[in-house]
Amino acid sequence: MTAQQTETGLRYRIDTEFCAGHGRCYALDPDAFVSDDVGYGEVVDKVHPLSRRDEMESVAVACPEEAVTVVGSED
Ligand code: SF4
Repeated sequence: MTAQQTETGLRYRIDTEFCAGHGRCYALDPDAFVSDDVGYGEVVDKVHPLSRRDEMESVAVACPEEAVTVVGSED
């Protein structure tokens, strides 16, 4: 991101290589994640307000596989 760009919102990302299907993400933030057919998390296509950053970071930290990250919506 350059100095001219400003974040307008936040998104979750899941690194599917590390997701092991523990389900913490969709349990903790059910509006932002869904489970696939076998219990792996999938991110709902949605931009979250910057005011949710701390809450979203808490959800990311709760993933035992460190598969969830929070990124700027422009990233
Ligand atoms: S909490 Fe982490 S490991 Fe579990 S389903 Fe979500 S992304 Fe996958």
